[in-house]
Amino acid sequence: MRENELNPYPLEGDGDLSLRPRRLAEFIGQEQLKSNLDVFLTAAKQRSEPLDHVLLYGPPGLGKTTLAHIIANEMDAIVHITSGPAIERPGDLVGILTNLEPGAVLFIDEIHRLSRPVEEILYPAMEDCKVDIMIGKGPAARSIRLDVPRFTVVGATTRQGLLTGPLRDRFGIISHFQYYDSEALYRIIERSAGILGYRIDPDGAEEISKRARGTPRIANRLLRRVRDFAQVDGLEAINAAIVDKACRALEVDPMGLDRVDRMLLRSMIEKYRGGPVGLDTLAATTGEDSTTIEDVYEPYLMQKGFLQRTPRGRTVTEHAYVHLGLAVPKRTEPSGLFDDAP
Ligand code: ADP
Repeated sequence: MRENELNPYPLEGDGDLSLRPRRLAEFIGQEQLKSNLDVFLTAAKQRSEPLDHVLLYGPPGLGKTTLAHIIANEMDAIVHITSGPAIERPGDLVGILTNLEPGAVLFIDEIHRLSRPVEEILYPAMEDCKVDIMIGKGPAARSIRLDVPRFTVVGATTRQGLLTGPLRDRFGIISHFQYYDSEALYRIIERSAGILGYRIDPDGAEEISKRARGTPRIANRLLRRVRDFAQVDGLEAINAAIVDKACRALEVDPMGLDRVDRMLLRSMIEKYRGGPVGLDTLAATTGEDSTTIEDVYEPYLMQKGFLQRTPRGRTVTEHAYVHLGLAVPKRTEPSGLFDDAP
Protein backbone atom coordinates (compact mmCIF):
# COMPACT_ATOMS: atom_id res chain seq x y z
CA MET A 1 0.00 0.00 0.00
CA ARG A 2 1.14 3.47 -0.75
CA GLU A 3 -0.21 6.17 1.47
CA ASN A 4 -1.79 9.35 0.43
CA GLU A 5 0.25 12.27 1.70
CA LEU A 6 -2.67 14.45 2.61
CA ASN A 7 -4.23 11.72 4.69
CA PRO A 8 -1.54 10.12 6.78
CA TYR A 9 -2.31 6.89 8.59
CA PRO A 10 -4.22 7.94 11.68
CA LEU A 11 -2.34 7.28 14.88
CA GLU A 12 -4.55 5.84 17.51
CA GLY A 13 -4.40 6.15 21.28
CA ASP A 14 -0.85 5.67 22.32
CA GLY A 15 0.60 4.80 18.96
CA ASP A 16 -1.41 1.73 18.08
CA LEU A 17 -0.03 1.98 14.58
CA SER A 18 2.70 -0.58 15.15
CA LEU A 19 0.18 -3.14 16.40
CA ARG A 20 -1.98 -3.03 13.29
CA PRO A 21 -1.66 -6.12 11.12
CA ARG A 22 -0.73 -5.14 7.57
CA ARG A 23 -1.57 -8.26 5.56
CA LEU A 24 -4.69 -10.38 5.53
CA ALA A 25 -2.70 -13.38 6.75
CA GLU A 26 -1.72 -11.44 9.90
CA PHE A 27 -5.31 -10.46 10.64
CA ILE A 28 -6.45 -12.72 13.46
CA GLY A 29 -10.02 -14.05 13.84
CA GLN A 30 -13.15 -13.14 11.79
CA GLU A 31 -12.43 -16.33 9.85
CA GLN A 32 -15.49 -16.36 7.58
CA LEU A 33 -15.17 -12.70 6.70
CA LYS A 34 -11.45 -13.12 6.05
CA SER A 35 -11.74 -16.19 3.86
CA ASN A 36 -14.47 -14.58 1.75
CA LEU A 37 -12.44 -11.43 1.36
CA ASP A 38 -9.42 -13.48 0.38
CA VAL A 39 -11.42 -14.96 -2.52
CA PHE A 40 -12.69 -11.54 -3.65
CA LEU A 41 -9.22 -10.00 -3.46
CA THR A 42 -7.62 -12.86 -5.36
CA ALA A 43 -10.31 -12.78 -8.06
CA ALA A 44 -10.05 -9.00 -8.48
CA LYS A 45 -6.27 -9.22 -8.74
CA GLN A 46 -6.51 -12.01 -11.32
CA ARG A 47 -8.77 -9.79 -13.43
CA SER A 48 -6.55 -6.75 -12.81
CA GLU A 49 -9.60 -4.88 -11.61
CA PRO A 50 -10.19 -2.87 -8.45
CA LEU A 51 -12.06 -4.72 -5.71
CA ASP A 52 -15.83 -4.15 -5.61
CA HIS A 53 -17.01 -1.62 -3.00
CA VAL A 54 -16.86 -3.00 0.54
CA LEU A 55 -19.02 -2.12 3.53
CA LEU A 56 -17.59 -3.07 6.91
CA TYR A 57 -20.05 -3.15 9.71
CA GLY A 58 -19.53 -3.70 13.43
CA PRO A 59 -18.93 -2.10 16.84
CA PRO A 60 -15.88 0.16 17.36
CA GLY A 61 -12.44 -1.37 17.81
CA LEU A 62 -13.05 -4.65 15.99
CA GLY A 63 -10.69 -3.94 13.09
CA LYS A 64 -12.63 -2.11 10.37
CA THR A 65 -9.96 0.54 9.79
CA THR A 66 -7.27 -2.10 9.97
CA LEU A 67 -9.01 -4.19 7.34
CA ALA A 68 -9.46 -1.18 5.04
CA HIS A 69 -5.70 -0.64 5.12
CA ILE A 70 -5.12 -4.34 4.54
CA ILE A 71 -7.39 -4.25 1.47
CA ALA A 72 -5.36 -1.37 0.06
CA ASN A 73 -2.16 -3.19 0.91
CA GLU A 74 -3.25 -6.42 -0.73
CA MET A 75 -4.38 -4.55 -3.86
CA ASP A 76 -1.18 -2.50 -3.85
CA ALA A 77 -3.39 0.57 -4.01
CA ILE A 78 -3.13 4.06 -2.64
CA VAL A 79 -5.45 4.59 0.32
CA HIS A 80 -7.25 7.85 1.01
CA ILE A 81 -8.82 8.20 4.43
CA THR A 82 -11.80 10.30 5.31
CA SER A 83 -15.02 10.07 7.28
CA GLY A 84 -18.71 10.87 6.93
CA PRO A 85 -18.67 13.97 9.14
CA ALA A 86 -15.44 15.26 7.54
CA ILE A 87 -17.04 15.58 4.09
CA GLU A 88 -19.26 18.55 4.76
CA ARG A 89 -20.22 19.70 1.26
CA PRO A 90 -20.73 17.90 -2.05
CA GLY A 91 -17.83 19.94 -3.45
CA ASP A 92 -15.49 18.39 -0.88
CA LEU A 93 -16.31 14.93 -2.18
CA VAL A 94 -16.02 16.03 -5.81
CA GLY A 95 -12.51 17.25 -4.96
CA ILE A 96 -11.58 13.91 -3.43
CA LEU A 97 -13.09 11.83 -6.26
CA THR A 98 -11.58 13.79 -9.13
CA ASN A 99 -8.13 13.43 -7.60
CA LEU A 100 -8.24 9.65 -7.13
CA GLU A 101 -5.62 7.50 -8.77
CA PRO A 102 -6.86 4.48 -10.78
CA GLY A 103 -7.58 1.59 -8.42
CA ALA A 104 -7.34 3.76 -5.30
CA VAL A 105 -9.09 2.77 -2.08
CA LEU A 106 -11.25 5.47 -0.54
CA PHE A 107 -11.88 4.64 3.10
CA ILE A 108 -14.92 6.44 4.51
CA ASP A 109 -15.26 5.88 8.24
CA GLU A 110 -18.68 6.50 9.84
CA ILE A 111 -20.18 6.40 6.37
CA HIS A 112 -23.70 6.53 7.85
CA ARG A 113 -22.99 10.17 8.73
CA LEU A 114 -22.63 11.36 5.12
CA SER A 115 -25.19 14.02 4.28
CA ARG A 116 -27.75 13.31 1.55
CA PRO A 117 -26.32 15.82 -0.98
CA VAL A 118 -22.87 14.26 -0.48
CA GLU A 119 -24.26 10.75 -0.88
CA GLU A 120 -25.82 11.77 -4.16
CA ILE A 121 -22.41 12.68 -5.53
CA LEU A 122 -21.11 9.31 -4.42
CA TYR A 123 -23.75 7.13 -6.15
CA PRO A 124 -22.78 7.72 -9.82
CA ALA A 125 -19.11 7.68 -8.86
CA MET A 126 -19.46 4.23 -7.29
CA GLU A 127 -21.65 2.88 -10.05
CA ASP A 128 -20.51 4.44 -13.30
CA CYS A 129 -17.27 6.26 -12.41
CA LYS A 130 -18.95 9.59 -13.09
CA VAL A 131 -19.27 12.77 -11.10
CA ASP A 132 -21.94 15.35 -11.83
CA ILE A 133 -21.06 18.93 -11.03
CA MET A 134 -23.02 22.12 -11.42
CA ILE A 135 -21.39 25.05 -13.12
CA GLY A 136 -22.78 28.53 -12.59
CA LYS A 137 -25.90 29.65 -10.77
CA GLY A 138 -29.52 30.44 -11.54
CA PRO A 139 -30.92 30.02 -15.08
CA ALA A 140 -27.44 29.80 -16.55
CA ALA A 141 -26.47 26.88 -14.33
CA ARG A 142 -25.67 23.66 -16.11
CA SER A 143 -24.51 20.27 -15.03
CA ILE A 144 -21.47 18.56 -16.44
CA ARG A 145 -20.31 14.97 -16.05
CA LEU A 146 -16.73 14.18 -15.28
CA ASP A 147 -15.06 10.80 -15.45
CA VAL A 148 -13.33 9.42 -12.40
CA PRO A 149 -11.09 6.36 -12.46
CA ARG A 150 -12.35 3.01 -11.21
CA PHE A 151 -11.77 2.88 -7.49
CA THR A 152 -12.94 1.04 -4.38
CA VAL A 153 -14.95 2.58 -1.58
CA VAL A 154 -14.41 0.89 1.75
CA GLY A 155 -17.11 2.20 4.05
CA ALA A 156 -17.14 1.52 7.78
CA THR A 157 -20.13 1.88 10.04
CA THR A 158 -21.16 0.93 13.53
CA ARG A 159 -24.82 1.12 12.49
CA GLN A 160 -25.88 -0.58 9.35
CA GLY A 161 -29.46 0.44 10.10
CA LEU A 162 -28.62 4.11 9.70
CA LEU A 163 -27.31 3.68 6.18
CA THR A 164 -29.74 4.73 3.47
CA GLY A 165 -31.01 1.92 1.23
CA PRO A 166 -29.54 3.35 -2.00
CA LEU A 167 -26.10 3.68 -0.43
CA ARG A 168 -26.14 0.17 1.04
CA ASP A 169 -27.21 -1.24 -2.32
CA ARG A 170 -24.10 0.11 -3.99
CA PHE A 171 -21.78 -2.09 -1.97
CA GLY A 172 -21.02 -5.41 -3.61
CA ILE A 173 -19.40 -6.81 -0.48
CA ILE A 174 -20.97 -6.39 2.93
CA SER A 175 -18.97 -7.78 5.82
CA HIS A 176 -20.21 -8.07 9.37
CA PHE A 177 -17.69 -8.09 12.17
CA GLN A 178 -18.40 -10.27 15.18
CA TYR A 179 -16.97 -9.84 18.66
CA TYR A 180 -13.77 -11.90 18.91
CA ASP A 181 -13.77 -15.08 20.95
CA SER A 182 -11.20 -15.40 23.71
CA GLU A 183 -9.01 -17.73 21.65
CA ALA A 184 -8.63 -15.09 18.90
CA LEU A 185 -8.06 -12.37 21.49
CA TYR A 186 -5.43 -14.56 23.12
CA ARG A 187 -3.54 -14.73 19.83
CA ILE A 188 -3.91 -10.98 19.27
CA ILE A 189 -2.54 -10.28 22.76
CA GLU A 190 0.39 -12.66 22.27
CA ARG A 191 1.20 -11.03 18.95
CA SER A 192 0.96 -7.51 20.40
CA ALA A 193 3.10 -8.43 23.42
CA GLY A 194 5.70 -9.75 20.98
CA ILE A 195 5.68 -6.47 19.06
CA LEU A 196 5.89 -4.46 22.29
CA GLY A 197 8.78 -6.67 23.38
CA TYR A 198 7.32 -7.76 26.72
CA ARG A 199 7.02 -11.37 27.79
CA ILE A 200 3.58 -12.63 28.65
CA ASP A 201 2.70 -15.92 30.34
CA PRO A 202 -0.20 -17.95 28.93
CA ASP A 203 -2.27 -17.28 32.05
CA GLY A 204 -1.62 -13.54 31.68
CA ALA A 205 -2.75 -13.51 28.05
CA GLU A 206 -5.77 -15.58 28.95
CA GLU A 207 -6.75 -13.24 31.75
CA ILE A 208 -6.52 -10.16 29.49
CA SER A 209 -8.49 -11.92 26.76
CA LYS A 210 -11.35 -12.53 29.20
CA ARG A 211 -11.54 -8.86 30.09
CA ALA A 212 -11.21 -7.40 26.61
CA ARG A 213 -14.94 -7.33 25.75
CA GLY A 214 -14.34 -9.28 22.56
CA THR A 215 -12.54 -6.22 21.16
CA PRO A 216 -8.93 -6.10 19.91
CA ARG A 217 -8.59 -2.38 20.60
CA ILE A 218 -9.49 -2.96 24.25
CA ALA A 219 -7.21 -6.02 24.42
CA ASN A 220 -4.28 -3.91 23.17
CA ARG A 221 -5.11 -1.04 25.47
CA LEU A 222 -5.33 -3.33 28.50
CA LEU A 223 -2.10 -5.02 27.49
CA ARG A 224 -0.26 -1.68 27.42
CA ARG A 225 -1.58 -0.67 30.83
CA VAL A 226 -0.84 -4.07 32.36
CA ARG A 227 2.66 -3.83 30.94
CA ASP A 228 3.06 -0.51 32.82
CA PHE A 229 2.09 -2.20 36.07
CA ALA A 230 4.35 -5.18 35.38
CA GLN A 231 7.29 -2.94 34.52
CA VAL A 232 6.89 -0.76 37.61
CA ASP A 233 6.65 -3.89 39.78
CA GLY A 234 9.86 -5.17 38.20
CA LEU A 235 8.27 -8.23 36.60
CA GLU A 236 9.91 -9.79 33.59
CA ALA A 237 6.69 -11.26 32.29
CA ILE A 238 3.01 -10.43 32.49
CA ASN A 239 1.17 -13.05 34.53
CA ALA A 240 -2.44 -13.46 35.67
CA ALA A 241 -1.72 -11.88 39.07
CA ILE A 242 -0.46 -8.62 37.58
CA VAL A 243 -3.38 -8.52 35.13
CA ASP A 244 -5.70 -8.85 38.08
CA LYS A 245 -3.91 -6.12 40.02
CA ALA A 246 -3.88 -3.74 37.04
CA CYS A 247 -7.53 -4.40 36.24
CA ARG A 248 -8.57 -3.72 39.80
CA ALA A 249 -6.77 -0.39 39.61
CA LEU A 250 -8.40 0.33 36.24
CA GLU A 251 -11.80 -0.76 37.58
CA VAL A 252 -12.19 -3.44 34.93
CA ASP A 253 -13.91 -6.47 36.41
CA PRO A 254 -13.29 -10.15 35.54
CA MET A 255 -15.96 -10.05 32.81
CA GLY A 256 -14.45 -6.94 31.28
CA LEU A 257 -17.13 -4.54 32.49
CA ASP A 258 -15.77 -1.11 33.34
CA ARG A 259 -17.02 1.62 35.62
CA VAL A 260 -19.45 2.99 33.02
CA ASP A 261 -20.96 -0.44 32.28
CA ARG A 262 -21.57 -1.02 35.95
CA MET A 263 -22.93 2.49 36.44
CA LEU A 264 -25.41 1.97 33.60
CA LEU A 265 -26.65 -1.30 35.04
CA ARG A 266 -26.71 0.07 38.57
CA SER A 267 -28.70 3.17 37.68
CA MET A 268 -31.22 1.09 35.77
CA ILE A 269 -31.64 -1.08 38.84
CA GLU A 270 -31.61 1.65 41.48
CA LYS A 271 -33.52 4.37 39.67
CA TYR A 272 -35.81 2.41 37.37
CA ARG A 273 -36.21 -0.91 39.19
CA GLY A 274 -34.42 -2.70 36.40
CA GLY A 275 -36.35 -1.03 33.57
CA PRO A 276 -37.79 -0.74 31.06
CA VAL A 277 -36.10 2.59 30.55
CA GLY A 278 -35.65 4.58 27.34
CA LEU A 279 -32.22 5.26 25.91
CA ASP A 280 -32.46 9.04 26.24
CA THR A 281 -33.60 8.80 29.84
CA LEU A 282 -30.72 6.49 30.59
CA ALA A 283 -28.29 8.89 28.90
CA ALA A 284 -29.66 11.84 30.87
CA THR A 285 -29.52 9.97 34.18
CA THR A 286 -25.99 8.70 33.74
CA GLY A 287 -24.50 11.69 31.91
CA GLU A 288 -23.28 9.46 29.09
CA ASP A 289 -23.87 10.24 25.44
CA SER A 290 -26.74 8.18 24.01
CA THR A 291 -24.83 7.30 20.83
CA THR A 292 -21.93 6.03 22.94
CA ILE A 293 -24.29 3.97 25.06
CA GLU A 294 -25.87 2.50 21.94
CA ASP A 295 -22.67 1.87 19.99
CA VAL A 296 -20.16 1.01 22.68
CA TYR A 297 -21.75 -0.16 25.90
CA GLU A 298 -25.04 -1.76 25.03
CA PRO A 299 -23.92 -4.28 22.39
CA TYR A 300 -21.49 -5.93 24.79
CA LEU A 301 -23.89 -5.83 27.75
CA MET A 302 -26.52 -7.44 25.57
CA GLN A 303 -24.12 -10.01 24.20
CA LYS A 304 -23.18 -11.02 27.74
CA GLY A 305 -26.83 -11.23 28.74
CA PHE A 306 -26.84 -8.33 31.23
CA LEU A 307 -29.22 -6.19 29.28
CA GLN A 308 -32.03 -6.66 26.84
CA ARG A 309 -33.97 -4.42 24.53
CA THR A 310 -37.71 -4.56 24.60
CA PRO A 311 -40.22 -2.47 22.67
CA ARG A 312 -40.76 -0.44 25.84
CA GLY A 313 -37.05 0.24 26.49
CA ARG A 314 -34.01 -1.40 28.04
CA THR A 315 -34.27 -3.80 30.92
CA VAL A 316 -31.57 -5.47 32.97
CA THR A 317 -31.56 -9.21 33.40
CA GLU A 318 -31.26 -11.28 36.53
CA HIS A 319 -27.69 -11.93 35.52
CA ALA A 320 -26.88 -8.22 36.05
CA TYR A 321 -28.13 -8.29 39.64
CA VAL A 322 -26.05 -11.36 40.36
CA HIS A 323 -22.95 -9.88 38.75
CA LEU A 324 -23.25 -6.66 40.76
CA GLY A 325 -23.84 -8.64 43.96
CA LEU A 326 -27.36 -7.25 44.39
CA ALA A 327 -30.41 -9.12 45.61
CA VAL A 328 -32.54 -10.31 42.72
CA PRO A 329 -36.03 -8.87 43.17
CA LYS A 330 -38.99 -11.17 43.18
CA ARG A 331 -40.79 -11.44 39.87
CA THR A 332 -43.57 -8.92 39.60
CA GLU A 333 -46.24 -9.12 36.97
CA PRO A 334 -46.57 -7.73 34.40
CA SER A 335 -42.94 -6.56 34.14
CA GLY A 336 -41.66 -9.24 31.78
CA LEU A 337 -38.37 -8.33 33.38
CA PHE A 338 -36.56 -11.62 33.37
CA ASP A 339 -38.08 -13.19 30.31
CA ASP A 340 -34.80 -13.95 28.58
CA ALA A 341 -32.47 -14.03 31.53
CA PRO A 342 -29.76 -16.63 31.01
P1 ADP B 1 -12.32 -0.04 14.09
O1 ADP B 1 -11.93 0.68 12.84
O2 ADP B 1 -13.27 -1.17 13.85
O3 ADP B 1 -12.77 0.86 15.19
P2 ADP B 1 -9.48 -0.64 14.26
O4 ADP B 1 -9.22 -1.19 12.91
O5 ADP B 1 -9.03 0.76 14.51
O6 ADP B 1 -11.02 -0.79 14.65
O7 ADP B 1 -8.82 -1.66 15.28
C1 ADP B 1 -8.40 -1.29 16.58
C2 ADP B 1 -7.05 -1.89 16.88
O8 ADP B 1 -7.21 -3.27 17.16
C3 ADP B 1 -6.07 -1.81 15.71
O9 ADP B 1 -5.19 -0.76 15.85
C4 ADP B 1 -5.30 -3.12 15.74
O10 ADP B 1 -4.09 -2.94 16.45
C5 ADP B 1 -6.16 -4.03 16.55
N1 ADP B 1 -6.80 -5.06 15.73
C6 ADP B 1 -8.05 -5.00 15.21
N2 ADP B 1 -8.36 -6.14 14.59
C7 ADP B 1 -7.30 -6.95 14.72
C8 ADP B 1 -7.03 -8.30 14.29
N3 ADP B 1 -7.95 -9.00 13.64
N4 ADP B 1 -5.83 -8.83 14.56
C9 ADP B 1 -4.93 -8.11 15.28
N5 ADP B 1 -5.13 -6.84 15.72
C10 ADP B 1 -6.30 -6.27 15.44
